[in-house]
Amino acid sequence: MKFFGFKGGVHPPDNKAQTAKLVTEDMVSPKMVYVPMQQHIGAPLDPIVKIGERVLKGQKIADSKAFMSTTIHAPVSGVVKKIEKRVFPLMGQANTVVIENDGKDEWCELEKIENWKEASTEELLKLIREKGIVGIGGASFPTHIKLNPPKDCKIDTLLLNGAECEPYLNSDNRLMLEDPKAIVEGIKIIKKILGIDSAIIGIEENKPEAIASMKKVCEGTGIEVLPLHTKYPQGGEKQLIKAALNREVPSGKLPAAVGVVVQNTGTAAAIYRGIVLGQPLIEKIVTVSGKAIKEPKNLRVVIGTPFSELLEKCGVDREKVDKLVMGGPMMGMAQFTEDVPVIKGTGGLLALTDEETNYCKPQACISCGKCVDVCPMNLVPFMYGRLAIKEEWDNMGQYNLMDCIECGSCAYICPANRPLTEAIKIGKAKLRSMKK
Ligand code: SF4
Ligand code: SF4
Repeated sequence: MKFFGFKGGVHPPDNKAQTAKLVTEDMVSPKMVYVPMQQHIGAPLDPIVKIGERVLKGQKIADSKAFMSTTIHAPVSGVVKKIEKRVFPLMGQANTVVIENDGKDEWCELEKIENWKEASTEELLKLIREKGIVGIGGASFPTHIKLNPPKDCKIDTLLLNGAECEPYLNSDNRLMLEDPKAIVEGIKIIKKILGIDSAIIGIEENKPEAIASMKKVCEGTGIEVLPLHTKYPQGGEKQLIKAALNREVPSGKLPAAVGVVVQNTGTAAAIYRGIVLGQPLIEKIVTVSGKAIKEPKNLRVVIGTPFSELLEKCGVDREKVDKLVMGGPMMGMAQFTEDVPVIKGTGGLLALTDEETNYCKPQACISCGKCVDVCPMNLVPFMYGRLAIKEEWDNMGQYNLMDCIECGSCAYICPANRPLTEAIKIGKAKLRSMKK
């Protein structure tokens, strides 16, 4: 298959070597798990358990009647101790179910469809929702909705995102090495749901072992593995579609508009586990890394495990931590406390030192145009910086601000250290609130 590439992008040091070859370790579930009721794009969920109730591992504990919603399950067996507002990693506070783990690891009865080839699309989508599956890549879009594109969009290709273009992270990489069959089985289920034959897995060339692993299990399945030249943000949906298929998603449209559905490789594996094994999405592989970590690791942990426990497990040197980030350094969320839990969108936890964050005071824009050159969305980032200072939010909208994917390439390349991503995030929030 041909590789087409995409315009713009940057090449930050990938820092993946620290954890690339480390086999994923199972972390013992903590004594207390904290499960936020807001873990996907869309409506927060309503708890369906009560304080004092005993829950089993895998039992549904939250749901919603809203269209844009999915479900949440108990990651351990134990007793619900509290339901209260707590800080969580996506800004602000979320209603949180606190479960005291009884250590018995007792599963509830799991609904599954082993002979999924006989099942209808509706049955499969319903079970994917019931298993609480969301996009593993970080955005956490409910998967059953993404797999049900508008009827007027003719889908012909499933594109699997195995790019993992964010520096430091190896959670997708390890999954492709350690459980490639689950990914392939998930792809087969998705192809049946979409009623299509064509599936392509895009993987960046800095993961040669993952490419070899996926090629081996895809032999004879018709699923293609496409090596991608390493460049950030290759894993952006629109960039991946351009790089692999040479199709351009129009401004304001979704990939379905050009006949494509994009899913993360980890999401495909979660679909297999949900449908065939009946397991809801209650655990994640998390890369814990950064120079303030003595023993970087890839850990398999249950949702609700506090960040502090992951940091302890990997030997954090708190004196050295300049910035704690959930996710990668380019698009991740900076955290002001370790007292927040792993959620469905957590793929990495980075404890970065002063040297790694390389914070320098912003200077005046020198109009070099580098931010425009690297923008993969053909935007004019320096204008966002200028307009945000003047609080001209409407004007930011005129410059197609909402097309920005917040990849951070512009801020990364800026020689004047302009805080462009922050300006963009604030501008978007202001525009959204003005439209309400
Ligand atoms: S303007 Fe947005 S899309 Fe363009 S480089 Fe900056 S963050 Fe990325
Ligand atoms: S890269 Fe920085 S200095 Fe150069 S034009 Fe953009 S904002 Fe200005």
